[in-house]
Amino acid sequence: MNPAGNASLPIAIIGGGITGLAAAHRLVRQGKTVRLFEASSRLGGSIRSERDGDWLVEGGPNSLQQTPAVAALLGELDLEAATLQARPEAKNRYLVRNGRLVAVPASPPALLVSKLFSTGAKWRLLREIFTRPRTRPADVSLAAFVESHFGREWVDYGLSPFVSGVYAGDAEKLSARHSFPSLWAMEQSHGSIIRGQIAAAKARRARGEPAGAAPIVSFADGLETLPRTLAARLPAGSVELHARVTALVPPSAGQPWQIQWTSPDSGSPPRSQLFSAVLLALPAAALAELSLPSAAASGSEPSDRPFASLADIEYPPVSSLFLGYRSDQIDHPLDGFGLLVPPLERRSIMGVLFNSTLFPGRAPEDHVALTVMTGGSRNPELARLTDEALLALVRDELAALLGVRGDPVFVRRTVWPHAIPQYTLGYERFLETMTRAEQAHPGLFIGGHVRDGISLPACIAAGEKLAARSLST
Ligand SMILES: Cc1cc2nc3c(=O)[nH]c(=O)nc-3n(C[C@H](O)[C@H](O)[C@H](O)COP(=O)(O)OP(=O)(O)OC[C@H]3O[C@@H](n4cnc5c(N)ncnc54)[C@H](O)[C@@H]3O)c2cc1C
Repeated sequence: MNPAGNASLPIAIIGGGITGLAAAHRLVRQGKTVRLFEASSRLGGSIRSERDGDWLVEGGPNSLQQTPAVAALLGELDLEAATLQARPEAKNRYLVRNGRLVAVPASPPALLVSKLFSTGAKWRLLREIFTRPRTRPADVSLAAFVESHFGREWVDYGLSPFVSGVYAGDAEKLSARHSFPSLWAMEQSHGSIIRGQIAAAKARRARGEPAGAAPIVSFADGLETLPRTLAARLPAGSVELHARVTALVPPSAGQPWQIQWTSPDSGSPPRSQLFSAVLLALPAAALAELSLPSAAASGSEPSDRPFASLADIEYPPVSSLFLGYRSDQIDHPLDGFGLLVPPLERRSIMGVLFNSTLFPGRAPEDHVALTVMTGGSRNPELARLTDEALLALVRDELAALLGVRGDPVFVRRTVWPHAIPQYTLGYERFLETMTRAEQAHPGLFIGGHVRDGISLPACIAAGEKLAARSLST
Protein backbone atom coordinates (compact mmCIF):
# COMPACT_ATOMS: atom_id res chain seq x y z
CA MET A 1 0.00 0.00 0.00
CA ASN A 2 1.14 3.51 -0.68
CA PRO A 3 1.82 5.38 2.52
CA ALA A 4 -1.33 7.21 3.54
CA GLY A 5 -1.44 10.89 2.68
CA ASN A 6 1.14 10.61 -0.10
CA ALA A 7 -1.34 9.98 -2.90
CA SER A 8 -1.06 13.61 -4.07
CA LEU A 9 2.67 13.20 -4.70
CA PRO A 10 3.82 12.31 -8.22
CA ILE A 11 4.85 8.79 -9.22
CA ALA A 12 8.53 8.36 -10.17
CA ILE A 13 9.41 6.38 -13.28
CA ILE A 14 13.09 5.52 -13.62
CA GLY A 15 14.25 4.75 -17.16
CA GLY A 16 13.07 6.43 -20.38
CA GLY A 17 13.03 3.41 -22.69
CA ILE A 18 9.79 2.10 -24.16
CA THR A 19 8.83 0.43 -20.85
CA GLY A 20 9.11 3.61 -18.79
CA LEU A 21 7.40 5.71 -21.46
CA ALA A 22 4.49 3.26 -21.81
CA ALA A 23 4.06 3.35 -18.01
CA ALA A 24 4.16 7.16 -17.96
CA HIS A 25 1.62 7.39 -20.78
CA ARG A 26 -0.81 5.04 -19.05
CA LEU A 27 -0.54 6.81 -15.68
CA VAL A 28 -1.04 10.27 -17.20
CA ARG A 29 -4.14 9.00 -19.02
CA GLN A 30 -5.41 7.89 -15.61
CA GLY A 31 -5.00 11.43 -14.32
CA LYS A 32 -1.78 10.83 -12.38
CA THR A 33 1.21 13.15 -12.20
CA VAL A 34 4.48 11.45 -13.12
CA ARG A 35 8.15 12.35 -13.30
CA LEU A 36 10.26 10.22 -15.61
CA PHE A 37 14.03 10.14 -15.02
CA GLU A 38 16.34 9.26 -17.90
CA ALA A 39 20.11 9.08 -17.44
CA SER A 40 21.03 9.88 -21.04
CA SER A 41 20.31 12.91 -23.22
CA ARG A 42 17.49 11.17 -25.14
CA LEU A 43 14.43 9.01 -24.64
CA GLY A 44 13.77 5.66 -26.29
CA GLY A 45 16.52 3.49 -24.75
CA SER A 46 17.35 0.74 -27.25
CA ILE A 47 15.12 2.32 -29.91
CA ARG A 48 17.37 4.55 -31.98
CA SER A 49 16.37 5.81 -35.44
CA GLU A 50 18.35 8.32 -37.45
CA ARG A 51 17.55 9.91 -40.78
CA ASP A 52 20.52 10.94 -42.93
CA GLY A 53 19.25 12.31 -46.24
CA ASP A 54 17.31 9.49 -47.87
CA TRP A 55 18.83 6.84 -45.60
CA LEU A 56 16.91 5.77 -42.51
CA VAL A 57 19.12 3.95 -40.02
CA GLU A 58 17.72 1.84 -37.19
CA GLY A 59 20.54 1.34 -34.71
CA GLY A 60 18.47 -0.92 -32.43
CA PRO A 61 15.17 -2.66 -33.16
CA ASN A 62 14.04 -2.58 -36.78
CA SER A 63 10.44 -3.71 -36.55
CA LEU A 64 7.50 -3.87 -34.18
CA GLN A 65 4.85 -6.58 -34.09
CA GLN A 66 1.48 -4.88 -34.03
CA THR A 67 -0.30 -7.01 -31.45
CA PRO A 68 -3.83 -5.91 -30.46
CA ALA A 69 -2.37 -4.09 -27.42
CA VAL A 70 0.19 -2.28 -29.59
CA ALA A 71 -2.55 -1.37 -32.08
CA ALA A 72 -4.60 0.09 -29.20
CA LEU A 73 -1.63 2.19 -28.07
CA LEU A 74 -0.98 3.44 -31.62
CA GLY A 75 -4.67 4.39 -31.77
CA GLU A 76 -4.46 6.38 -28.52
CA LEU A 77 -1.45 8.22 -29.93
CA ASP A 78 -3.15 8.92 -33.30
CA LEU A 79 -0.30 7.08 -34.97
CA GLU A 80 -2.40 4.69 -37.10
CA ALA A 81 -2.11 6.81 -40.25
CA ALA A 82 1.64 7.19 -39.74
CA THR A 83 2.16 3.44 -39.37
CA LEU A 84 4.02 1.67 -42.19
CA GLN A 85 3.09 -1.96 -42.81
CA ALA A 86 5.91 -4.29 -43.82
CA ARG A 87 5.89 -4.93 -47.58
CA PRO A 88 4.31 -8.27 -48.64
CA GLU A 89 7.72 -9.57 -49.84
CA ALA A 90 8.88 -9.37 -46.22
CA LYS A 91 6.90 -12.55 -45.59
CA ASN A 92 9.79 -14.41 -47.26
CA ARG A 93 12.64 -15.42 -44.98
CA TYR A 94 15.96 -16.96 -45.91
CA LEU A 95 18.21 -19.35 -44.07
CA VAL A 96 21.74 -20.48 -44.86
CA ARG A 97 22.12 -24.23 -45.33
CA ASN A 98 25.32 -25.81 -46.65
CA GLY A 99 26.64 -22.35 -47.44
CA ARG A 100 23.71 -21.34 -49.68
CA LEU A 101 20.54 -19.31 -49.14
CA VAL A 102 17.36 -21.39 -48.94
CA ALA A 103 13.85 -19.88 -48.67
CA VAL A 104 12.09 -20.78 -45.41
CA PRO A 105 8.80 -22.52 -46.32
CA ALA A 106 5.90 -20.22 -45.49
CA SER A 107 3.14 -22.86 -45.19
CA PRO A 108 2.81 -26.53 -44.16
CA PRO A 109 2.45 -27.75 -47.81
CA ALA A 110 5.52 -25.69 -48.81
CA LEU A 111 7.41 -27.25 -45.92
CA LEU A 112 6.66 -30.77 -47.10
CA VAL A 113 8.26 -30.11 -50.49
CA SER A 114 11.05 -27.84 -49.22
CA LYS A 115 14.67 -28.99 -49.44
CA LEU A 116 15.51 -27.12 -46.24
CA PHE A 117 14.69 -30.11 -44.02
CA SER A 118 15.33 -33.84 -44.52
CA THR A 119 12.52 -36.35 -44.91
CA GLY A 120 13.30 -37.65 -41.41
CA ALA A 121 12.85 -34.15 -39.95
CA LYS A 122 9.50 -33.77 -41.75
CA TRP A 123 8.26 -37.10 -40.35
CA ARG A 124 9.37 -36.03 -36.89
CA LEU A 125 7.28 -32.88 -37.25
CA LEU A 126 4.18 -34.88 -38.14
CA ARG A 127 4.73 -37.26 -35.21
CA GLU A 128 4.92 -34.35 -32.76
CA ILE A 129 1.16 -33.90 -33.07
CA PHE A 130 0.70 -37.04 -30.95
CA THR A 131 2.82 -35.79 -28.01
CA ARG A 132 0.95 -36.13 -24.71
CA PRO A 133 0.75 -33.30 -22.14
CA ARG A 134 3.57 -33.40 -19.61
CA THR A 135 4.84 -31.45 -16.63
CA ARG A 136 8.62 -31.48 -16.41
CA PRO A 137 10.20 -31.77 -12.95
CA ALA A 138 12.73 -29.04 -13.84
CA ASP A 139 13.49 -26.42 -16.43
CA VAL A 140 15.57 -27.45 -19.47
CA SER A 141 17.45 -25.55 -22.14
CA LEU A 142 15.42 -24.29 -25.05
CA ALA A 143 17.47 -26.54 -27.34
CA ALA A 144 16.71 -29.65 -25.22
CA PHE A 145 13.03 -28.69 -25.08
CA VAL A 146 12.66 -28.29 -28.84
CA GLU A 147 14.79 -31.38 -29.55
CA SER A 148 12.49 -33.48 -27.34
CA HIS A 149 9.54 -32.41 -29.49
CA PHE A 150 10.95 -32.15 -33.00
CA GLY A 151 14.45 -33.67 -33.11
CA ARG A 152 17.92 -32.20 -33.56
CA GLU A 153 17.58 -30.95 -37.13
CA TRP A 154 14.82 -28.56 -36.04
CA VAL A 155 17.10 -27.20 -33.33
CA ASP A 156 19.99 -26.66 -35.74
CA TYR A 157 18.05 -25.21 -38.67
CA GLY A 158 14.84 -23.93 -37.04
CA LEU A 159 15.36 -22.86 -33.43
CA SER A 160 19.03 -21.82 -33.25
CA PRO A 161 18.99 -19.27 -36.10
CA PHE A 162 15.69 -17.90 -34.78
CA VAL A 163 17.18 -17.50 -31.29
CA SER A 164 20.20 -15.69 -32.79
CA GLY A 165 17.78 -13.36 -34.60
CA VAL A 166 15.58 -12.59 -31.59
CA TYR A 167 17.84 -12.86 -28.52
CA ALA A 168 21.30 -12.77 -30.14
CA GLY A 169 21.38 -15.80 -27.89
CA ASP A 170 22.36 -19.45 -27.61
CA ALA A 171 19.51 -21.97 -27.48
CA GLU A 172 21.73 -24.37 -25.49
CA LYS A 173 21.95 -21.80 -22.65
CA LEU A 174 18.50 -20.20 -22.68
CA SER A 175 15.83 -21.52 -20.34
CA ALA A 176 12.78 -23.02 -22.06
CA ARG A 177 10.54 -21.93 -19.21
CA HIS A 178 11.69 -18.31 -19.07
CA SER A 179 12.58 -17.48 -22.67
CA PHE A 180 9.46 -19.00 -24.30
CA PRO A 181 6.90 -19.33 -21.48
CA SER A 182 4.05 -19.82 -23.97
CA LEU A 183 5.68 -22.97 -25.40
CA TRP A 184 6.36 -24.25 -21.89
CA ALA A 185 2.67 -23.76 -21.02
CA MET A 186 1.54 -25.40 -24.28
CA GLU A 187 3.49 -28.53 -23.45
CA GLN A 188 1.65 -28.77 -20.15
CA SER A 189 -1.80 -28.06 -21.58
CA HIS A 190 -1.61 -29.77 -24.99
CA GLY A 191 1.53 -31.90 -25.04
CA SER A 192 2.09 -31.12 -28.69
CA ILE A 193 3.41 -27.64 -29.49
CA ILE A 194 1.76 -27.87 -32.91
CA ARG A 195 -1.64 -28.62 -31.40
CA GLY A 196 -1.04 -25.86 -28.85
CA GLN A 197 -0.33 -23.38 -31.66
CA ILE A 198 -3.49 -24.41 -33.51
CA ALA A 199 -5.54 -23.97 -30.32
CA ALA A 200 -3.97 -20.55 -29.69
CA ALA A 201 -4.83 -19.43 -33.24
CA LYS A 202 -8.43 -20.61 -32.73
CA ALA A 203 -8.66 -18.70 -29.45
CA ARG A 204 -7.38 -15.53 -31.16
CA ARG A 205 -10.01 -15.95 -33.89
CA ALA A 206 -12.71 -16.42 -31.23
CA ARG A 207 -11.63 -13.10 -29.66
CA GLY A 208 -12.04 -11.44 -33.06
CA GLU A 209 -8.27 -11.09 -33.51
CA PRO A 210 -6.39 -12.20 -36.65
CA ALA A 211 -5.38 -15.87 -36.20
CA GLY A 212 -1.98 -15.46 -37.88
CA ALA A 213 1.14 -13.65 -36.71
CA ALA A 214 0.66 -9.98 -35.81
CA PRO A 215 1.54 -7.58 -38.65
CA ILE A 216 5.02 -6.07 -38.67
CA VAL A 217 5.09 -2.28 -38.62
CA SER A 218 7.28 0.80 -38.31
CA PHE A 219 7.06 4.51 -39.23
CA ALA A 220 8.42 6.72 -42.00
CA ASP A 221 11.09 8.10 -39.67
CA GLY A 222 11.67 4.77 -37.95
CA LEU A 223 10.62 3.19 -34.69
CA GLU A 224 11.81 6.14 -32.61
CA THR A 225 8.60 7.87 -33.71
CA LEU A 226 6.86 5.82 -31.01
CA PRO A 227 8.92 6.95 -27.98
CA ARG A 228 9.04 10.50 -29.38
CA THR A 229 5.26 10.60 -29.65
CA LEU A 230 4.77 9.08 -26.20
CA ALA A 231 7.08 11.72 -24.74
CA ALA A 232 5.42 14.57 -26.66
CA ARG A 233 2.04 13.62 -25.16
CA LEU A 234 3.28 13.85 -21.56
CA PRO A 235 2.53 17.10 -19.73
CA ALA A 236 5.37 19.66 -19.81
CA GLY A 237 7.91 19.07 -17.06
CA SER A 238 7.22 15.32 -16.77
CA VAL A 239 10.63 14.27 -18.11
CA GLU A 240 14.04 14.85 -16.55
CA LEU A 241 16.87 14.05 -18.99
CA HIS A 242 20.54 13.71 -17.91
CA ALA A 243 19.16 12.42 -14.61
CA ARG A 244 20.88 9.25 -13.40
CA VAL A 245 18.99 7.93 -10.40
CA THR A 246 21.46 6.62 -7.86
CA ALA A 247 19.43 5.96 -4.73
CA LEU A 248 15.91 5.25 -3.59
CA VAL A 249 15.16 5.91 0.03
CA PRO A 250 12.20 3.73 0.97
CA PRO A 251 9.57 5.22 3.22
CA SER A 252 9.26 4.53 6.87
CA ALA A 253 5.60 4.26 7.89
CA GLY A 254 3.52 7.05 6.46
CA GLN A 255 6.42 8.73 4.65
CA PRO A 256 6.90 9.14 0.89
CA TRP A 257 9.72 7.68 -1.26
CA GLN A 258 12.76 9.84 -1.79
CA ILE A 259 14.56 9.60 -5.12
CA GLN A 260 18.11 10.87 -5.48
CA TRP A 261 19.69 11.61 -8.83
CA THR A 262 22.75 13.20 -10.36
CA SER A 263 23.32 14.98 -13.66
CA PRO A 264 26.78 13.59 -14.45
CA ASP A 265 28.02 16.30 -16.83
CA SER A 266 26.53 19.33 -15.12
CA GLY A 267 28.78 19.34 -12.06
CA SER A 268 25.73 20.18 -9.97
CA PRO A 269 25.24 18.39 -6.64
CA PRO A 270 22.87 15.39 -6.37
CA ARG A 271 19.20 16.32 -6.20
CA SER A 272 16.22 14.62 -4.60
CA GLN A 273 12.44 14.65 -4.65
CA LEU A 274 9.58 12.89 -2.85
CA PHE A 275 7.19 10.48 -4.58
CA SER A 276 4.23 8.28 -3.69
CA ALA A 277 5.56 5.27 -5.63
CA VAL A 278 8.57 4.26 -7.74
CA LEU A 279 8.48 2.36 -11.03
CA LEU A 280 11.81 0.89 -12.15
CA ALA A 281 12.12 0.32 -15.92
CA LEU A 282 15.87 -0.24 -16.09
CA PRO A 283 18.40 -2.67 -17.58
CA ALA A 284 19.98 -5.13 -15.12
CA ALA A 285 23.30 -3.28 -14.78
CA ALA A 286 21.48 -0.08 -13.78
CA LEU A 287 19.31 -1.96 -11.28
CA ALA A 288 22.43 -3.61 -9.82
CA GLU A 289 23.96 -0.20 -9.07
CA LEU A 290 20.87 1.25 -7.39
CA SER A 291 21.16 1.90 -3.70
CA LEU A 292 18.28 1.42 -1.27
CA PRO A 293 20.09 2.68 1.82
CA SER A 294 17.77 1.64 4.59
CA ALA A 295 16.58 -1.60 3.02
CA ALA A 296 16.88 -4.79 4.99
CA ALA A 297 19.31 -7.31 3.54
CA SER A 298 17.54 -9.94 1.43
CA GLY A 299 19.30 -13.29 1.01
CA SER A 300 22.90 -12.87 -0.14
CA GLU A 301 22.46 -9.28 -1.38
CA PRO A 302 24.32 -6.46 0.38
CA SER A 303 21.83 -4.45 2.42
CA ASP A 304 22.19 -1.23 0.42
CA ARG A 305 22.21 -2.81 -3.09
CA PRO A 306 19.34 -5.27 -3.21
CA PHE A 307 19.73 -5.83 -6.96
CA ALA A 308 23.52 -6.34 -6.96
CA SER A 309 23.24 -9.94 -8.18
CA LEU A 310 21.41 -8.83 -11.35
CA ALA A 311 24.84 -7.76 -12.64
CA ASP A 312 25.33 -11.50 -13.34
CA ILE A 313 22.61 -11.54 -16.00
CA GLU A 314 24.26 -12.22 -19.34
CA TYR A 315 23.89 -9.31 -21.82
CA PRO A 316 26.06 -10.14 -24.85
CA PRO A 317 27.29 -7.36 -27.13
CA VAL A 318 25.76 -6.89 -30.57
CA SER A 319 27.00 -4.84 -33.51
CA SER A 320 24.38 -3.54 -35.92
CA LEU A 321 26.04 -2.54 -39.20
CA PHE A 322 23.82 -0.57 -41.58
CA LEU A 323 25.11 -0.69 -45.15
CA GLY A 324 23.85 1.12 -48.26
CA TYR A 325 24.61 -0.11 -51.79
CA ARG A 326 23.61 0.80 -55.32
CA SER A 327 21.03 -1.77 -56.41
CA ASP A 328 23.32 -2.90 -59.25
CA GLN A 329 25.96 -4.01 -56.74
CA ILE A 330 23.78 -6.91 -55.51
CA ASP A 331 22.83 -10.07 -57.43
CA HIS A 332 20.19 -11.26 -54.95
CA PRO A 333 16.69 -9.74 -55.39
CA LEU A 334 16.50 -9.12 -51.58
CA ASP A 335 12.88 -10.25 -51.78
CA GLY A 336 12.38 -10.92 -48.08
CA PHE A 337 12.68 -9.85 -44.46
CA GLY A 338 16.27 -11.01 -44.39
CA LEU A 339 18.44 -14.02 -43.79
CA LEU A 340 19.47 -15.90 -40.67
CA VAL A 341 22.61 -17.98 -40.23
CA PRO A 342 22.40 -21.23 -38.21
CA PRO A 343 25.42 -21.48 -35.87
CA LEU A 344 26.20 -24.89 -37.41
CA GLU A 345 27.08 -23.08 -40.65
CA ARG A 346 30.07 -21.52 -38.86
CA ARG A 347 29.87 -18.09 -40.47
CA SER A 348 30.81 -14.90 -38.68
CA ILE A 349 27.48 -13.05 -38.96
CA MET A 350 24.20 -13.82 -37.17
CA GLY A 351 21.94 -12.49 -39.89
CA VAL A 352 21.12 -9.73 -42.36
CA LEU A 353 17.99 -7.60 -42.53
CA PHE A 354 16.83 -6.37 -45.91
CA ASN A 355 15.74 -2.94 -44.60
CA SER A 356 14.77 -1.38 -47.92
CA THR A 357 12.54 -4.35 -48.75
CA LEU A 358 10.95 -4.44 -45.31
CA PHE A 359 9.72 -0.81 -45.35
CA PRO A 360 9.66 1.95 -47.96
CA GLY A 361 11.80 5.07 -47.52
CA ARG A 362 14.89 3.39 -46.08
CA ALA A 363 17.28 4.10 -48.99
CA PRO A 364 17.58 6.58 -51.89
CA GLU A 365 16.17 5.57 -55.27
CA ASP A 366 18.18 2.84 -57.05
CA HIS A 367 19.84 1.94 -53.74
CA VAL A 368 19.23 -0.72 -51.12
CA ALA A 369 19.88 -0.90 -47.39
CA LEU A 370 20.98 -3.94 -45.37
CA THR A 371 21.70 -4.38 -41.66
CA VAL A 372 24.26 -7.00 -40.67
CA MET A 373 24.16 -8.29 -37.09
CA THR A 374 27.28 -9.75 -35.47
CA GLY A 375 28.21 -10.78 -31.94
CA GLY A 376 25.65 -12.17 -29.52
CA SER A 377 26.15 -14.96 -26.98
CA ARG A 378 27.94 -17.27 -29.39
CA ASN A 379 30.50 -14.86 -30.85
CA PRO A 380 30.68 -11.79 -28.58
CA GLU A 381 34.19 -10.90 -29.82
CA LEU A 382 32.82 -10.27 -33.33
CA ALA A 383 30.72 -7.37 -32.02
CA ARG A 384 33.89 -5.73 -30.71
CA LEU A 385 35.96 -5.78 -33.92
CA THR A 386 37.23 -2.47 -35.24
CA ASP A 387 35.13 -0.95 -38.01
CA GLU A 388 37.80 -1.85 -40.61
CA ALA A 389 38.07 -5.50 -39.50
CA LEU A 390 34.30 -5.88 -39.35
CA LEU A 391 33.77 -4.34 -42.78
CA ALA A 392 36.37 -6.66 -44.32
CA LEU A 393 34.75 -9.70 -42.78
CA VAL A 394 31.22 -8.62 -43.70
CA ARG A 395 32.28 -7.85 -47.29
CA ASP A 396 33.29 -11.52 -47.76
CA GLU A 397 30.12 -12.84 -46.13
CA LEU A 398 27.82 -10.64 -48.23
CA ALA A 399 29.67 -11.52 -51.41
CA ALA A 400 29.26 -15.24 -50.70
CA LEU A 401 25.62 -15.14 -49.57
CA LEU A 402 24.03 -12.31 -51.59
CA GLY A 403 26.44 -11.70 -54.44
CA VAL A 404 27.33 -8.20 -53.18
CA ARG A 405 30.14 -6.49 -55.16
CA GLY A 406 32.34 -3.61 -54.09
CA ASP A 407 32.22 -1.26 -51.13
CA PRO A 408 29.05 0.11 -49.57
CA VAL A 409 28.20 3.70 -50.46
CA PHE A 410 26.83 4.38 -46.96
CA VAL A 411 27.94 2.88 -43.62
CA ARG A 412 26.63 3.43 -40.10
CA ARG A 413 27.54 1.18 -37.19
CA THR A 414 25.86 0.95 -33.78
CA VAL A 415 27.50 -1.17 -31.08
CA TRP A 416 25.47 -2.34 -28.10
CA PRO A 417 27.97 -3.43 -25.42
CA HIS A 418 25.09 -4.96 -23.40
CA ALA A 419 22.35 -5.60 -25.93
CA ILE A 420 19.71 -8.04 -24.74
CA PRO A 421 19.31 -9.93 -21.43
CA GLN A 422 19.56 -13.69 -21.79
CA TYR A 423 16.91 -15.62 -19.86
CA THR A 424 19.32 -18.48 -19.18
CA LEU A 425 18.76 -21.60 -17.09
CA GLY A 426 18.38 -20.58 -13.44
CA TYR A 427 16.91 -17.15 -14.36
CA GLU A 428 14.31 -17.60 -11.62
CA ARG A 429 16.90 -16.48 -9.07
CA PHE A 430 16.96 -13.04 -10.70
CA LEU A 431 13.16 -12.91 -10.88
CA GLU A 432 12.98 -13.88 -7.19
CA THR A 433 15.36 -11.03 -6.29
CA MET A 434 13.00 -8.56 -7.95
CA THR A 435 9.92 -10.08 -6.33
CA ARG A 436 11.58 -10.03 -2.89
CA ALA A 437 12.50 -6.36 -3.25
CA GLU A 438 8.92 -5.48 -4.21
CA GLN A 439 7.56 -7.44 -1.25
CA ALA A 440 9.99 -5.74 1.13
CA HIS A 441 9.15 -2.27 -0.22
CA PRO A 442 5.48 -1.49 -0.85
CA GLY A 443 5.21 1.17 -3.53
CA LEU A 444 8.20 -0.20 -5.49
CA PHE A 445 7.46 -1.82 -8.88
CA ILE A 446 9.93 -3.37 -11.32
CA GLY A 447 9.36 -4.18 -15.01
CA GLY A 448 10.82 -4.18 -18.49
CA HIS A 449 13.08 -6.37 -20.58
CA VAL A 450 14.86 -7.77 -17.53
CA ARG A 451 11.64 -9.33 -16.26
CA ASP A 452 8.74 -9.37 -18.72
CA GLY A 453 10.13 -10.41 -22.11
CA ILE A 454 12.51 -8.67 -24.48
CA SER A 455 10.34 -7.78 -27.48
CA LEU A 456 8.94 -4.28 -27.89
CA PRO A 457 5.32 -5.49 -27.44
CA ALA A 458 6.41 -7.29 -24.24
CA CYS A 459 8.07 -4.10 -22.95
CA ILE A 460 5.01 -1.98 -23.82
CA ALA A 461 2.84 -4.51 -21.94
CA ALA A 462 5.35 -4.38 -19.06
CA GLY A 463 5.02 -0.59 -18.85
CA GLU A 464 1.24 -0.79 -18.84
CA LYS A 465 1.37 -3.48 -16.15
CA LEU A 466 3.69 -1.35 -14.01
CA ALA A 467 1.21 1.51 -14.25
CA ALA A 468 -1.76 -0.72 -13.41
CA ARG A 469 0.02 -2.28 -10.42
CA SER A 470 1.01 1.09 -9.00
CA LEU A 471 -2.61 2.26 -9.28
CA SER A 472 -4.07 -0.81 -7.63
CA THR A 473 -2.18 -0.44 -4.35
C1 LIG B 1 20.24 -4.33 -31.36
C2 LIG B 1 18.84 -4.63 -30.86
C3 LIG B 1 17.87 -5.03 -31.77
C4 LIG B 1 16.57 -5.31 -31.33
N1 LIG B 1 15.61 -5.64 -32.25
C5 LIG B 1 14.32 -5.75 -31.86
C6 LIG B 1 13.27 -5.84 -32.83
O1 LIG B 1 13.51 -5.80 -34.06
N2 LIG B 1 11.98 -5.96 -32.38
C7 LIG B 1 11.67 -5.98 -31.04
O2 LIG B 1 10.49 -6.13 -30.69
N3 LIG B 1 12.65 -5.83 -30.09
C8 LIG B 1 13.95 -5.71 -30.46
N4 LIG B 1 14.94 -5.49 -29.53
C9 LIG B 1 14.58 -5.51 -28.09
C10 LIG B 1 13.95 -4.20 -27.59
O3 LIG B 1 14.42 -3.11 -28.35
C11 LIG B 1 14.29 -3.96 -26.10
O4 LIG B 1 14.07 -5.13 -25.33
C12 LIG B 1 13.46 -2.82 -25.52
O5 LIG B 1 13.60 -1.65 -26.31
C13 LIG B 1 13.87 -2.56 -24.08
O6 LIG B 1 13.13 -1.47 -23.56
P1 LIG B 1 13.24 -1.03 -22.02
O7 LIG B 1 12.51 0.24 -21.89
O8 LIG B 1 12.79 -2.16 -21.14
O9 LIG B 1 14.80 -0.83 -21.74
P2 LIG B 1 15.82 0.20 -22.41
O10 LIG B 1 15.47 0.47 -23.82
O11 LIG B 1 17.17 -0.35 -22.12
O12 LIG B 1 15.61 1.56 -21.59
C14 LIG B 1 16.12 1.74 -20.29
C15 LIG B 1 16.47 3.22 -20.11
O13 LIG B 1 16.91 3.43 -18.77
C16 LIG B 1 17.94 4.41 -18.80
N5 LIG B 1 18.73 4.32 -17.56
C17 LIG B 1 19.71 3.41 -17.25
N6 LIG B 1 20.15 3.65 -15.99
C18 LIG B 1 19.46 4.69 -15.48
C19 LIG B 1 19.44 5.37 -14.22
N7 LIG B 1 20.25 5.01 -13.19
N8 LIG B 1 18.60 6.43 -14.05
C20 LIG B 1 17.76 6.83 -15.07
N9 LIG B 1 17.73 6.19 -16.29
C21 LIG B 1 18.55 5.14 -16.48
C22 LIG B 1 18.72 4.07 -20.05
O14 LIG B 1 19.51 5.16 -20.49
C23 LIG B 1 17.60 3.69 -21.03
O15 LIG B 1 17.17 4.80 -21.77
C24 LIG B 1 16.25 -5.20 -29.94
C25 LIG B 1 17.23 -4.78 -29.03
C26 LIG B 1 18.51 -4.48 -29.48
C27 LIG B 1 19.55 -4.01 -28.50
